[in-house]
Amino acid sequence: MSLQQELEEVILTVPDFPKKGVSFKDINPLFKNPVVMKKVIQEMAIYAKEVKAQHIVGIESRGFFFGIPLALELNIPFVAARKKGKLPGDVISQEYLLEYGTDCIEIQKNSILINEKYLIVDDVIATGGTAKATAEIIKKGGAEVCGFSFLIELLFLNGKNLILPSSSNIQSLLKYS
Ligand code: AMP
Repeated sequence: MSLQQELEEVILTVPDFPKKGVSFKDINPLFKNPVVMKKVIQEMAIYAKEVKAQHIVGIESRGFFFGIPLALELNIPFVAARKKGKLPGDVISQEYLLEYGTDCIEIQKNSILINEKYLIVDDVIATGGTAKATAEIIKKGGAEVCGFSFLIELLFLNGKNLILPSSSNIQSLLKYS
């Protein structure tokens, strides 16, 4: 069985959660299945090596579930991209649009090293707004986005097109059309 097929079996789709019309991808069963979870991290590690990542950026909060084990597997630093007001010290911020209103994501300035390569990791790419904002922060800090790695891509929302100008390197392990 391919990893895609294994993930299809493990990940659950919950209709109308957290609100009507959203098909929520519940990844919690994956964390109860260490065999498949290890394969996920190994696939992400192969890709991270291909794009020569020197740092892993995990997006709050489900990006942390993948970003930290990935960084440990590769023996490279992990950087947290967090919601506004959670990180102390100097931060670089980027606002982005939600369906209603805006949100803001931040990274500590001293975590972004000039000209180094950063791989951005999250559980799901939907519209791509969160990943794009994270990429903008890395670029504002003078570093390079060498790629994006997602467990799940919701193809019908075209998030890839939004983040493409940041990096043409995108990995997604399970695609829903
Ligand atoms: P977006 O900025 O639209 O690409 O949304 C990405 C963020 O929203 C990710 O951090 C996901 O955790 C979450 N997300 C969006 N859509 C879903 C979904 N259908 N199921 C689970 N999480 C989602």
